[in-house]
Amino acid sequence: MKYDLAIIGGGPAGYTAAERAGAAGLFVALFEKNALGGVCLNEGCIPTKTLLYSAKVYDAIKGASKYGIGAENASFDLPKIIARKNKVVKKLVAGIKLKMTENNVTTITGEALIKGRSADGTITIGCGEETYDADRLLICTGSETIIPPIPGLSETEYWTSREALQTKELPASLIVIGGGVIGMEFASFFNSLGSEVHVVEMLDEILPGMDKELSALLRAEYAKRGMKFYLGHKVTAVNGQEVTVEKDGESFAIQGEKVLLSVGRRPVTKGFGLDTLAVEPLRNGVKVNEFMQTSLPNVYAAGDITGFSLLAHTAVSEAETAVKHILDKAREGMSYRAIPGIVYTNPEIAGVGATEEQLQAEGKTYAVKKIPMAFSGRFVAENEMGNGICKLILAEDGTIIGAHLLGNPASELIIIAGIAIEQKTKADQLASFVFPHPTVGEILKEAVTL
Ligand SMILES: Cc1cc2nc3c(=O)[nH]c(=O)nc-3n(C[C@H](O)[C@H](O)[C@H](O)COP(=O)(O)OP(=O)(O)OC[C@H]3O[C@@H](n4cnc5c(N)ncnc54)[C@H](O)[C@@H]3O)c2cc1C
Repeated sequence: MKYDLAIIGGGPAGYTAAERAGAAGLFVALFEKNALGGVCLNEGCIPTKTLLYSAKVYDAIKGASKYGIGAENASFDLPKIIARKNKVVKKLVAGIKLKMTENNVTTITGEALIKGRSADGTITIGCGEETYDADRLLICTGSETIIPPIPGLSETEYWTSREALQTKELPASLIVIGGGVIGMEFASFFNSLGSEVHVVEMLDEILPGMDKELSALLRAEYAKRGMKFYLGHKVTAVNGQEVTVEKDGESFAIQGEKVLLSVGRRPVTKGFGLDTLAVEPLRNGVKVNEFMQTSLPNVYAAGDITGFSLLAHTAVSEAETAVKHILDKAREGMSYRAIPGIVYTNPEIAGVGATEEQLQAEGKTYAVKKIPMAFSGRFVAENEMGNGICKLILAEDGTIIGAHLLGNPASELIIIAGIAIEQKTKADQLASFVFPHPTVGEILKEAVTL
């Protein structure tokens, strides 16, 4: 029995590819060693957003009096918050299982090991006692947390995102090592619930890769809420509940009940026989062309393994691109022009396309249209005392090439900006669309009509 397509990894890349290929009639085998849904559903996007929503509800109740609503003595129950998160994950994972069945995908639970590729291109995969042959292989093994060699770390009971998502007890204080997206989302969650949060970031601003001006505003907002930031500080040692940091030759220790490590993730390329195929590597991951083919034409890779953006929506798009190519239906390759990046803090921050920092580094000319979110009536109605910014970046010919938003619901508004950028929309074209009133989305039209 030979499969048309074998897929290793059942995360967003793997299950999307399996669903699309199965729906198109291909005979598909999907290998997953843990749980379908991968990191995204089980210990990433969905669980974090579920916890953050509880924190958002709690924030809203604490601030209810600003809206004329009395709600004294707001409280929370962390074990219940975690139990609800587990229920949400379970429901969504069950949905993925159902999709696999509906699309005739053979799901194999176990660790896949690539055995080799024969002269006719057939790929052989071992899993448990069985071996499986396939005409094509799609590698979707995802990524893992980077554990840096910090002295004392291995002797300390620190958290990664995985442990933080399971905690039933609120730490009185938390030291977050790494102020990137994952670090800031957890920092925001624990800050809302009342932990004293310290964020240590080696670079000179939190959220590297996001618009620097907006990141600084978000940091200032959280500093007002009591979060402590140590920018440009390097962690030199971790010793139980003490983290030693260093800046410009000066060292000091920060005390915290818990330490959360979030310095980044890297593609999983080892432990599953990838070396037997000798595909060309790139950065920490696997090199692919625009159709997600590796250096071997019948071996594809999609998702975090490619090391491009380490985001679930990129993983899904890459998987769709790979399957279209396999089905001979790919008109164009994967486009990375408009991959939104979102931080689900409260307020949210989101960006898509070029940043000012990037364009300046490339020496490119651009124009900025920037307005406060308060130019949207709906935003003012729903954000008492809240502020935010909408920043659009235009190329010399007026094409929208970047969009950066601080303020709720930035995660939803960025979709409009992403489509505009992907479609190479000009500012006056965006302004000509009818935006419903009153919506926060009108801010995009306001910005381009400035
Ligand atoms: C805390 C956290 C929050 C996040 N939040 C967001 C977010 O809000 N938005 C967003 O876009 N992204 C977010 N991400 C990133 C997102 O989870 C990943 O980009 C996404 O999961 C990548 O999908 P993937 O299919 O490439 O890999 P994964 O989801 O990592 O799935 C890979 C799968 O492969 C399986 N596997 C690996 N090797 C084998 C083998 N040999 N045999 C069988 N199975 C194997 C693994 O068990 C795993 O299930 C977050 C990540 C974390 C950690």
